[in-house]
Amino acid sequence: MMAAGRAGELGSRVVLLEKNNKLGVKLLATGGGRCNITNLKDARGLANSFGNNGRWLLSAFSKFGPEELIEFFASRGLKTKVEEEGRVFPKSDSAADVQQVLAEYLKSLKIEVKLGAEVKKVVGAGDKISKLILVSGQEIIADKYLICTGGKSYPQTGSTGDGYQWLKQLGHKIISPRPALAPVIIKDKFIKDLEGLSFKETGISYYSDNKKVDMTVGPLIFTANSLSGPAILNMSAIVGRENLKGAQIKIDFFPNLDFSKLDQELSKDFSSSNKALKNGLDQLIPPRLASVLINLAGFDGRKKLNLISREERQTLTRLLKEFPLTVLGLAGYDRAMVTAGGVDLKEINPKNMRSKIIENLYLAGEVLNLNGPTGGYNLQLCWTSGYLAGDSAAK
Ligand SMILES: Cc1cc2nc3c(=O)[nH]c(=O)nc-3n(C[C@H](O)[C@H](O)[C@H](O)COP(=O)(O)OP(=O)(O)OC[C@H]3O[C@@H](n4cnc5c(N)ncnc54)[C@H](O)[C@@H]3O)c2cc1C
Repeated sequence: MMAAGRAGELGSRVVLLEKNNKLGVKLLATGGGRCNITNLKDARGLANSFGNNGRWLLSAFSKFGPEELIEFFASRGLKTKVEEEGRVFPKSDSAADVQQVLAEYLKSLKIEVKLGAEVKKVVGAGDKISKLILVSGQEIIADKYLICTGGKSYPQTGSTGDGYQWLKQLGHKIISPRPALAPVIIKDKFIKDLEGLSFKETGISYYSDNKKVDMTVGPLIFTANSLSGPAILNMSAIVGRENLKGAQIKIDFFPNLDFSKLDQELSKDFSSSNKALKNGLDQLIPPRLASVLINLAGFDGRKKLNLISREERQTLTRLLKEFPLTVLGLAGYDRAMVTAGGVDLKEINPKNMRSKIIENLYLAGEVLNLNGPTGGYNLQLCWTSGYLAGDSAAK
């Protein structure tokens, strides 16, 4: 939408082909329906968030970055606000408003939008694309083509990775796609008992072969079989990379208290109380977590707090600071927010998003071999590359 609009703004005749019956279906689901449109980092900060490939984005982000994006939306009536860690959202907290601004942008420029138009085939002729063939049989012939079919994540939104196949056939190298920003699946059966529990701040450590590989602090959500929330999603890149044999996550439910401080607190609470252990822990943590913790410790939940030995108390403290979970793997594309891998960046000019292999082809968005953390980075990549692709294709 950004690319089509920008090309139209510069006077090109553009047709946008979308297989869904609505524009921006995935966009509507972003940020839990609130759409975290960007992050207020400077070009270097944004580029660094994309890891090793980030350098490729530096000049692109300096041409059309968060400042230009916020101005783009403000000038079309969409006010924005900044939340923690520089995350930018529409003031209305509505992803639908973002989608609407883009749809109006296209309408105002009289861009032809074909909905329900699924591209089946991209036909190449030498180092050019000669035409597109739609599932309906219709053929589309243009001077220039822009492919932004996204990745494979959330395929129900239309992102089924079609672009990877076409581009491979056209001679582009595709770095194997894989799920990223995905919940981490846990093997332990007791995870089911914790479904729905969420914590504002936890310490999360990732261990591979008993070695701590990563550590982060952030919110945590338990699902029926996995851990989720921004901190875990960002950690999932490492989980996907490391050997999963013997992989463990340890949760610290009290990241602001060290072991001895927390143990002292428990000691104070326990020594003069004749409540049952189960009820005592319920004051500190949700009852369902307390039950799991007591089971893991192998204790009797009915035991009186003032009868808990020092050793037993320290076992509980350790479980509260290092609650162990066995990692089975990462959730698949149906639950991964983005797709890692994609078109090899070496084959695309970062200044104008033009293919170095196919003369009349431009690429933008998640189809590229780029994926960032949560926080608005992935959409900014799409706005930036879309804007540049549309801009240069029109010139
Ligand atoms: C649940 C969820 C929440 C997210 N939240 C955020 C967030 O808050 N902030 C953020 O920065 N990022 C977020 N992301 C990531 C972000 O949404 C994506 O990176 C971004 O949408 C990718 O944009 P894109 O235009 O490259 O591809 P997509 O948004 O995937 O769009 C590709 C489009 O191409 C169409 N298409 C595919 N194949 C064909 C075909 N054969 N013919 C015709 N049309 C076709 C699809 O129907 C689709 O509409 C989120 C992702 C998910 C899944």
